[in-house]
Amino acid sequence: MSDWEDEYDERGVAVTRPPGVGTGARAAPTFPSGVPREVVCFGGGAPRGKPSRDRPQWRDRRDGDAGLDGAAVRGDSRDGGRWRGEGRVFGVDGDGSGSRRPVSLRVENALIGRIIGRGGGKIRELEESSGARIKINRGEYEGDLLIFGSSDVQQKAQTMIEELISGGSSVSWPQNDSESPGVKSTSCWSRTALQSSAGPTSTPIDWNALRENREKYETMKWQDLPALKKDFYIEAESVARRSAEEVRIWRKENNNVFVDDLREEGKRPVPNPVYTFEEAFVDFPEIMENIVRVGFQKPTPIQSQAWPVVLSGLDLIGIAQTGTGKTLAYLLPGFIHMDQQPVPRDQRGGPGMLVLTPTRELALQIEAECNKYRYKNFKSICVYGGGDRRAQIKMVTSGVDIVIATPGRLNDLQMNELINLRSITYLVLDEADRMLDMGFEPQIMKIILDIRRDRQTIMTSATWPTGVRRLAKSYLKDPMMVYVGTLDLAAVGTVQQTVLCVQEEEKKAYIFDFIHNMEPQDKVLIFVGKKIVADDLSSDLCLRGIAVQSLHGDREQRDREEALQDFKDGRVRILVATDLASRGLDVHDITHVVNYDFPRNIEEYVHRVGRTGRAGRSGTSVTLVTRGDWKMAAELIHILERAGQEVPEELVLMAERYEKHRREKDMFPTKPRGGGRGGGAQRGRDRFRDDCNWRF
Ligand code: ADP
Ligand code: MG
Repeated sequence: MSDWEDEYDERGVAVTRPPGVGTGARAAPTFPSGVPREVVCFGGGAPRGKPSRDRPQWRDRRDGDAGLDGAAVRGDSRDGGRWRGEGRVFGVDGDGSGSRRPVSLRVENALIGRIIGRGGGKIRELEESSGARIKINRGEYEGDLLIFGSSDVQQKAQTMIEELISGGSSVSWPQNDSESPGVKSTSCWSRTALQSSAGPTSTPIDWNALRENREKYETMKWQDLPALKKDFYIEAESVARRSAEEVRIWRKENNNVFVDDLREEGKRPVPNPVYTFEEAFVDFPEIMENIVRVGFQKPTPIQSQAWPVVLSGLDLIGIAQTGTGKTLAYLLPGFIHMDQQPVPRDQRGGPGMLVLTPTRELALQIEAECNKYRYKNFKSICVYGGGDRRAQIKMVTSGVDIVIATPGRLNDLQMNELINLRSITYLVLDEADRMLDMGFEPQIMKIILDIRRDRQTIMTSATWPTGVRRLAKSYLKDPMMVYVGTLDLAAVGTVQQTVLCVQEEEKKAYIFDFIHNMEPQDKVLIFVGKKIVADDLSSDLCLRGIAVQSLHGDREQRDREEALQDFKDGRVRILVATDLASRGLDVHDITHVVNYDFPRNIEEYVHRVGRTGRAGRSGTSVTLVTRGDWKMAAELIHILERAGQEVPEELVLMAERYEKHRREKDMFPTKPRGGGRGGGAQRGRDRFRDDCNWRF
């Protein structure tokens, strides 16, 4: 893969890598001069990705805090200070983009957890207090901390990390190796080694004082920001006149629109919905011109209710079914927000709107929407992995108003101080539940650190699992929540969903048969679970002379874009894709979605199915379910029933069998087969990782 933003470990945690850093064997990174440089390393410096089986103490400590005290600070600072050991500074600026060189520290994974802290609190504090930016690239057993900033700031961050790892008690190395549970005397953390690496005694950092000073740091950090305006809403007379009863009926008739003020104290009045575009944008003729040009008849329910909320300057969580116009629900008010700021555009020093999306294809699609509804000549740019980094940097530094980005690449530019996020006042997380899951959340957290707190934040999605609800609140300030239909998981009502229970080996024959019976106007998106299956199925179809494209994360970005374009333009009418294509993509004439493999979770099922039946059109989905999918049967039945779809008898039996099996397993737990680490268990994890296709 040409890019390093979209890889995940088996728990879904993003495994981000700077250019040139791989999990397997790799050449020592070099500076532009070609000379490898040694700097800093935790943990003995085993090549990353090569499991260090000869150092079991690393793994032992993973299971608990034992042995952490005094562990792991070894190294030497760049300028010959007290950090000794092997390691290196990565030549991140080797591409000539002028970025500042980070210091790299190698740390075992258990300690990384300690540095990050619960919910990322520690690392946030660390970054705020030291002024450094820290990026974490986890390997299988250990990871690299990349510390960005001036050398002073880097040094400060190093000292703080040292403090943090040694339990806040300066470097309190164990008196006797055997006293440290989980650490063997042959350990690379032996007392002598540790003491000698500790160098001169450091002054302990007073974490409590730091915490107390947090407010002060915050104020200092943001004190020079220009004024911000967020409320531009002038309620039309016709809207203001609507009675509560009329609004209640409208909400009910429009797919059950529901508005919830999530402010805990002092609930605010909920704005009435607008029924027409004029009611929202009569004072903004350029926006009206664009709407007239594309020929939309009336706002969709989410737009009707979201526009008054967002134009009033409130944070929003907007949940509505797939294909119901959520993009314009945030884009159009965003244009107005940017245009009406008290500080003129050319004096803001950076972009004003940032839209974060989980996939590159979606980022490109949103950028295309920005251009389609172009307002006041705002310049937008799409910043995404796999795209030309140098060109993106050039664009970003030459001045843009709107940035649409995937988190990995944006993080990269941010860490290298190539983009100013302090000027962002309007932030959108599209497909927010996906953005806040374990894969992206650490990156988002860092991006948010550089964005002012009094910004306006919008989150949208078609699914809102309970797991992300509480997390989302920490990114928003007293949001209003608008949801259309229900917050419970539901697939879009315009899709007829069919489920077929089949044997694994029957799947291919089914697909060939399905394609054989396709009508000329049909357009089919086939979802598979693994990249290798996408390749396998699409080449099988090609061999049969069927025009097909495939879309997955192992393809070059250029090929990914070409595949999608071919499908959009109708040059091919069949696209085989992984879940890379499940979120947000708007190809209006997809008639069928086929789930060749069942998705890894039920939310993705809803999003996959939602690639058809968009903007009021109708569509069909066909899902092949095998015995291996029995875990998902109950949730699938729930979705089908809610949408009034037929539930096959075999699926019900499958769900019952699974439930019985689960109960039996709870009652008579058996030892897992497979044995120790690196044996069956490891293989199982690897299989899980591949099956889940975490790496888009
Ligand atoms: P979502 O993000 O909710 O999945 P999109 O924003 O991608 O949906 O919109 C789906 C399609 O609906 C797009 O092609 C978009 O142009 C179209 N659309 C947006 N607003 C309207 C509207 N008011 N009337 C008709 N079509 C609309
Ligand atoms: Mg969308």
